[in-house]
Amino acid sequence: MKDERVLLAHGSGGLMSQRLIDEVFKKAWSNEILDNMLDGAVMEVPSGRMAMSTDSFVITPLFFPGGDIGKLAICGTVNDLVACGARPLYLSVAFIIEEGLAMDQLRSIVKSMAETAEEAGIKLITGDTKVVEKGSADRVFINTTGIGFIPEGIDFRPGRIEPGDKIIVTGQVGDHGLAILSQREGLSFTTPALSDCAPLYQLGEIVNKYGNSIKCMRDPTRGGLATVLNEIAGQAQIGVRVQEADIPVSLVVRGACDMLGMDPLYMANEGKMVIFAAADAAEGILADLQSLPQTADAAVIGEATSEPEGMVLITTELGARRILGMLEGEHVPRIC
Ligand code: MG
Repeated sequence: MKDERVLLAHGSGGLMSQRLIDEVFKKAWSNEILDNMLDGAVMEVPSGRMAMSTDSFVITPLFFPGGDIGKLAICGTVNDLVACGARPLYLSVAFIIEEGLAMDQLRSIVKSMAETAEEAGIKLITGDTKVVEKGSADRVFINTTGIGFIPEGIDFRPGRIEPGDKIIVTGQVGDHGLAILSQREGLSFTTPALSDCAPLYQLGEIVNKYGNSIKCMRDPTRGGLATVLNEIAGQAQIGVRVQEADIPVSLVVRGACDMLGMDPLYMANEGKMVIFAAADAAEGILADLQSLPQTADAAVIGEATSEPEGMVLITTELGARRILGMLEGEHVPRIC
């Protein structure tokens, strides 16, 4: 394609739209369902329960250390399906593009979506593109909707959590938040801050092996670990106790947060999961997580308690106990 930038006509539904679809999207994402080019995707689904999740991505910058908006758009939806106990199957993708976006940037976003989807074993089967006038959007926004199959008997939800259940986090927290913040503010550290953006499809093995010994999973994205723990404590009507010393945080995130006066427990993650599991299964789950590359830094960070209902208590590294509240206000806008 000779055009260097996305033009309004690329969203017109006419010849230019057709060329954009054929030369950018279809080329990168080709599969037997997408290639039919019907008004919607027609596909086989296994019989049983399905999970469906939708998310919109408005992150700035579009390209950041460890990923880009395209990779993030796949990971965000894949990880929400995984959190439901589902095996991700299919994705729809909708772009809202500001006129003038460099075609090379779009190609690069589309390519990283294809690579991430391939890695996660999910197929992009239908999509839409709209182009709006300059100033009506900021370069590109992406919506992804995914569906996945929930294996027989899997039932992950906060209501199944009981006092004594262990809480596992699958790796170091705060990496995505710091990567975005440092890129935006032009901060540099001796070790570069990299986003943890990753599709957590490997957790499927853990789900298959441990089934309903896992009570609930949630990915600590916006608002970070502290916010997810509070949401779950409230929904499950249980208490949550965690030990700060047991929560994995990288040296670079710890150092930067100290310097910036921020708390890693409220920083966004895009490749982590919080797992509530029965106490008798927790050791096995932890050992298996630690043997997988994506979740090698997993740790047990605390447990569910009968009270105080709906609250999260943290024992600090100095041994004091305090309430870990919800995130107040906007920490870092347009983080995902
Ligand atoms: Mg989520």
